[in-house]
Amino acid sequence: MTLTYIQTHLNTHKKCVKYLEKLRWKGKPTCPYCGSDKSTSKQLRHTCHQCKRSYSVTVKTTFHNSNLPLNKWLSAISIILSAKKGVSSLQLARDISVNKNTAWLLQMKIRAAMAEGEFEYFKPEKRELRVTFTGRMNEVKKWISYEKEDVDSSNRDQHLWNHLKRAIIGQYHRIDERYLYRYVDEIRFKFDRKSKTFFGYEDLISKVLKL
Ligand SMILES: [Zn+2]
Repeated sequence: MTLTYIQTHLNTHKKCVKYLEKLRWKGKPTCPYCGSDKSTSKQLRHTCHQCKRSYSVTVKTTFHNSNLPLNKWLSAISIILSAKKGVSSLQLARDISVNKNTAWLLQMKIRAAMAEGEFEYFKPEKRELRVTFTGRMNEVKKWISYEKEDVDSSNRDQHLWNHLKRAIIGQYHRIDERYLYRYVDEIRFKFDRKSKTFFGYEDLISKVLKL
């Protein structure tokens, strides 16, 4: 999804909700609390016939409880995906007109959605380890290549590793080391989808929706 498309076609809350509903439910609202697909819809909310609770498309997703307009979320996702070398939170803040703390948090949440597999070593709780940059990079290398033995994936790992090194070394001055693992999640997600339409935009939206 290009930014231009979002700004032209997903420029209101209602249009964003409809877009997400289509992706999440394929036109059939399904209760996130009990799983029933019988509901009565009124505007953008649905009332479940089984458990009687009311819900919208963002319930139990990363978008839930966010004060940020959906249009800004969708724009941020597009900007992050199309920035080959990554985008700083300051730049993102300017691009979608939010303050820098909001942009930073948004970026962290989007990166968390990009995570595939967990690697304990990079969790913030481990930061007291105070390892060197090289130490961490070695861990990154182990992480991307674990459990992969066939020739195709070792090729992919070598390319990914070269790409990561360039990206991280090129941007390291603005990466908070505690969150290096999230940064790696972003680079890896994009690397694996670089040939997909709009760099896997709908894949990522699905992850944000936790599908
Ligand atoms: Zn229900």
